[in-house]
Amino acid sequence: MKKVVAGVDIGGTNTVYGLVDEKGKVLSQGTFKTTDYPKVENFVIALTDAIRKLLAANKEYRLAGIGIGAPDANYHRGTIEHAPNLAWKGIVPLADLIKKKINVPVVVTNDANAAAMGEMIFGGAKKMKDFIVLTLGTGLGSGIVIDGKMVYGHTGFAGELGHMTVVPGGRECGCGRKGCFETYASATGLVRTVQNLLSEMRDETPLRDIPPSKLTSKKIAELAAKKDPVAVRAMNETAEILGFGIINSIVFSSPEAIFLFGGLAQAGEMLFKPVRAYLEKNNYVLMKNTVKILPSGISESNGAVLGSAALIWNDLKK
Ligand SMILES: [Zn+2]
Repeated sequence: MKKVVAGVDIGGTNTVYGLVDEKGKVLSQGTFKTTDYPKVENFVIALTDAIRKLLAANKEYRLAGIGIGAPDANYHRGTIEHAPNLAWKGIVPLADLIKKKINVPVVVTNDANAAAMGEMIFGGAKKMKDFIVLTLGTGLGSGIVIDGKMVYGHTGFAGELGHMTVVPGGRECGCGRKGCFETYASATGLVRTVQNLLSEMRDETPLRDIPPSKLTSKKIAELAAKKDPVAVRAMNETAEILGFGIINSIVFSSPEAIFLFGGLAQAGEMLFKPVRAYLEKNNYVLMKNTVKILPSGISESNGAVLGSAALIWNDLKK
């Protein structure tokens, strides 16, 4: 029998799961709504049943472990702790609950660490020992790899680069503090920048006709590509702050590359080009031209499942 693992990505809205072999091939996958399970015990039953169904359809495979990416997850303890975007309150012993239903090794980490592990095992960082993945979505997540090892830190929560202060006294953040990196350099941050610029600038722009709730980073990137003045300026301001946050990260750990992943990164060269320019313009002298800014080597469609699968494959090899 061949070995296979289950990769699971728990999001605030949807949970995606799949079976992944040692080479990073997704054999089958499925999805259900996380929000259908306000009680974590019922979620665990639904998830383990779903994994068993996939295994029943792939009889030549034996399940070797389960890797899970989830918000506010603690790798050391296998828990999800005080996640504001999930219905499960307090400290949830997720790994233990799953092991009681399917007795295989289970590891849990946050989604950005899972993305970094996916990059290292199956993606663009296969030959790298020092790199950082920034996931630019609703917030900004990060996975830091130093000397071939994921940095979890003393608490298990290391790598919260989204909450570095980049503008003292700046924008209010969901964490209760002000001026955090993610309030500027994320899909949501870009939208906030556009909203501020619309009141500051008098230029004609289709952005004025889009209701705030419908404004997306995708739309802004499209308009920036067409040289819309507000969209271009918003993209540049975002790239400049992203550049400063990247400099703060590289003076700390001197990575070979920074991978940009997630919704805002889909703006492609509209974002990457100014980020590279601002980075080198403001970079610390010893770090100049030492870091590659790269798109993820993993497709967005199965990146979450692959990252979580990479996490457990990596642990099983230890
Ligand atoms: Zn914050």
